[in-house]
Amino acid sequence: MTKRQNNLETSVIHDGYDSADLLGSLAPPLFQTSTFTFETAEQGERRFAGEEDGYMYSRLGNPTVTVLEEKMAALEKGERGLAFASGMAAVSAILVALTKANDHILCSSGLYGCTFGLLSMMNEKYNISSDFSTMETRDDLRALIRPETACIYVETPINPTMKLIDLEMVAEVACEKGIPVVVDNTFASPYLQRPLELGCDVVLHSATKYIGGHGDVIAGVAVGRKDFLDQVQMTVQKDMGGVMSPFDAWLLIRGLKTLPIRVDRHCDNAEKIDGKLRNHPSVSRVLYPDDAQHPDYHIREKQMKRGGGLISFEIKGTKKEAQQLLNNLNFIKIAVSLGDAETLIQHPATMTHAVVPAASRAEMGITDQLIRLSVGLEAWEDIWEDLEQALDQLK
Ligand SMILES: *Cc1c(COP(=O)(O)O)cnc(C)c1O
Repeated sequence: MTKRQNNLETSVIHDGYDSADLLGSLAPPLFQTSTFTFETAEQGERRFAGEEDGYMYSRLGNPTVTVLEEKMAALEKGERGLAFASGMAAVSAILVALTKANDHILCSSGLYGCTFGLLSMMNEKYNISSDFSTMETRDDLRALIRPETACIYVETPINPTMKLIDLEMVAEVACEKGIPVVVDNTFASPYLQRPLELGCDVVLHSATKYIGGHGDVIAGVAVGRKDFLDQVQMTVQKDMGGVMSPFDAWLLIRGLKTLPIRVDRHCDNAEKIDGKLRNHPSVSRVLYPDDAQHPDYHIREKQMKRGGGLISFEIKGTKKEAQQLLNNLNFIKIAVSLGDAETLIQHPATMTHAVVPAASRAEMGITDQLIRLSVGLEAWEDIWEDLEQALDQLK
């Protein structure tokens, strides 16, 4: 195994793989194999007994996937990474691992739509209840923690309202009570925010987004303590089976090399678009965490390097006009997902958050006029030109 590098820009390129181990191949090879052969029956016995290191079957581990897991652990400053078939496979495996029937989960108010759906299913099937909190103060949290609270589950920035939660504060309250904190760090990426360094216990990513960065993979990763993730791997993941394919790991290893460069450019562009949107007469509200007018700007300064590539905004008008704005665009693509080279735009109330009941949507602040923009890597002037002409048509 390679020595861990200190600087993240070097880590993403070098950690987890040494070309000297594999015939000098500069790029980590793609081990596209389902199974691994044993030299003898006794070796097979030792491997399955855990007495000898080595691969057995790709659902239990694969060398290309291991490289990705080691890079992600280095980036998030965790002991180990565990890769999954999708972001939701990671979210569900961690929540299943941490809970049993009749437990309780305390969540940030505002969650990825499918995570909300998963919690509803866990409630119906296993009576695992959830409470939602804005987590603005320590007392907000203390008031909702119960003896059966199995974990605190946080998204920040929150999708799609871009509210922020002070992770250090949440981790301190959770620590008083001995409850693990799980953070979905998809929106920030480890380049901008590292929850484990702030005292949280498990970090999750939809690697589909900034980690891959090129819109060609569905994947997920968890990072945290080795004993915990070893156990998740050998119980929930092994038996439920949501593993990452070696080819997807290979694409993610390639995408990761440019993560710091890409994310900086996403942020540069988003800052420019934020400023322009704020001054457009058809826009009533802009939600971008790196703007001094954002209510949680102080939290951004405390825990995030920059504001990220996502902006949500509300237009003056109705749902129909919000949809019209999307239809007016030329090169900006109407699509869910985020963190790709292409600028993507979507309407949360009818797309990513359509599964969330209207009352909960209203509580989360997801109005019919709200639009989410994933600012891409194009020239910001071109992105603005397209948005401006689409907005101008609404007047
Ligand atoms: C996309 C996303 C997920 C789910 O990830 P998939 O890779 O689509 O399964 C979870 N959380 C957040 C914040 C996301 O944006």
